[in-house]
Formats: sequence, C-alpha cells, structure tokens
Amino acid sequence: MIFYHPDCDLRFSEYGIEIPIVDDRASHVFSALQFLYPFLQYTNLKSLDKISRADLERVHTKDFMHRLFGTALERQEEIYRCYELVNSDGQFERFNPKNQKRDWKELLDTILLQVSMTNASSMYALKNGFSYYLGGGMHHAMSFAGRGFCLVNDMAITLRKMQADGLIKTAWIVDVDVHKGDGAPEIFKNDSSIKTFSIHMKEGWPLNSGTVRDPWFIPSTVDVGIDVGEDDQYLARLEAGLLELDESAPNPDLVIVVNGADPYELDELPSASFINLTKEQMLNRDKFLYQFFKSRNIPQSYVMAGGYGEKSWEIYLQFLKFVGENTSFQKK
Ligand SMILES: [Zn+2]
Repeated sequence: MIFYHPDCDLRFSEYGIEIPIVDDRASHVFSALQFLYPFLQYTNLKSLDKISRADLERVHTKDFMHRLFGTALERQEEIYRCYELVNSDGQFERFNPKNQKRDWKELLDTILLQVSMTNASSMYALKNGFSYYLGGGMHHAMSFAGRGFCLVNDMAITLRKMQADGLIKTAWIVDVDVHKGDGAPEIFKNDSSIKTFSIHMKEGWPLNSGTVRDPWFIPSTVDVGIDVGEDDQYLARLEAGLLELDESAPNPDLVIVVNGADPYELDELPSASFINLTKEQMLNRDKFLYQFFKSRNIPQSYVMAGGYGEKSWEIYLQFLKFVGENTSFQKK
C-alpha cells in the first residue's frame, strides 16, 4: 500500500528555507502511480493515530521536547539549528525570512503528521508485508536535537511506539540514503532490540566536515562506507552487509527501509555527490532490498528520506512500479 497526503509535504520554500528538495516530488510519484492504479487514494488523515508527547519522549529527551513545544523563540532556535539556517558569523544561510509565509509551529505540526504517517504505514506493513510512505525518513534526528534537516526521528518514534503497544519486539532500520544514518545508532546505542544498518558515502557530510555543528561518527550495527569510485561495488557490498546483519540478528519483526534516492547520479545536492549510481543501479538496489526481505518473510515499511532536484522522483517511481507489478498494491 502507498501512504501519501499532500498536506504532509513540508514545502520548505513556504518557510523561506532554501533546500533543493523539490516541493512536489512525492505528489509527482503519487500521481504517476494513481494513473496506473486508479484505486489508490490519499491516506485519510483523520484515520491516523496522533503522535503524543509520550510517544516522542520514548525517543527524544524531555529537554529537547520542552524547547520544541515551548515558546516561539525556543522552537525557532531548535529549527534554526536543525536546518542550519544561521552560520558561525550569525548570518542567515539557506534562509530568506522575507519569503517565510508560514509559522514554525505549522512546520512542526506537519512534521508530526509525517511521523503519524510513518507509524500508520509501518503498522500496515506489519500486517500485510509491504508499505511505502511517500515522505518521512528523518534519519539524522538525534535523541537530544534535530540535525541535518531532520527534526525528530520518525522511524525510532514508530518502532518504540509499536514496542510499547506490544506489536513488535525487534526490528531493523536499513538505511540506504547516501548520507550515513546516524540518528538511529545514537538513539538505539543501548537498545539491543533494534538493529541498524547504513550504507553511505565513506567521506563527506555528516562524517568529516569538521565543524562543531556536525555529529561524530556513530556506529550502526553494520556500516558499509563506499569510497569515491567504488560505485560498481555498491550492490555486492550492500548484499554482504545485509547478510552480516541477518547473521547477527535474524528474523526481526519488521524492517523500516530509509529509501533515500540521493545516491543517484542525477541527484542535485552537492553534499550527495560522492556516490553516483545510474538509474538502473538504483532500481537494482531497491529490487534487491525488496527481495531480500520478502524471501525472509520480514515485513517491510519504506520511507522516502533524501532525494534532491528535478529527477529524484523517477527513482521512487521506478521501484514502486516494480512492486506494483508484483503485488498490485492490494486494495485496503
Ligand atoms: Zn541523504
């Protein structure tokens, strides 16, 4: 099943934030799928479980949540920090306040709606084997603060909520976004029930830019770092890494796949440029993941994560067409 509603799209440009996420990449994918599968509908937002403060505080520190839900100024500081909108000289960066049409509270509410979608989509996957939410994947959010354009960690909040509700005991987070997944390893570092995997650029953000804002290297259960020029080894090393994870912690109750499209060679984010997979290699990556989990009967829930510029939507679409041909997305 596909989970999507346009009200969950972040539309950074309406807040004056200048990040090259094309505002309509998710709606592009959804429209193209709806053309093929006319029964696909927007997710009914009223049917979603609301994410409570208790849900958030299973993952994030009370102090961080206090500031996010505190005064307008405290919230603004947390958002400036997360999206790196102020540079070390105190000047605005990738942010033009003149273009800000919406309040930061609306951004927070939309992000929480995304968490609800990741949660609903994962619940569906747990019952039915597969789901894809066209949003979410805020994989740099740490327990104590938002980082790298990710304010709260939707995957971690979902998994801890599902555990608290007695729906799952164990899970994997498999992160194939080009940037190393570091939020989940930080959050779950003392929790052996959730295993984390990341395949990413060996160098580059968030690993070595050397400023105080940037996080340190936080090990996942299994990490695979791909160096510049090693694109042709990507698939084989992905497979070897997942086999290692499978050997160390087999049969999780659920996997959440952080399905970033930014390893794609036509991705437009400068900090994503050290891995450059072709469109075909991207499809092979996603088909491999799908079959790896399916053959082991592991329910799989996908979130979009990073994918920048005019072409990234095609990567999501080609994978979902493949899944549709195999499952027809079963009507709800
Ligand atoms: Zn990324």
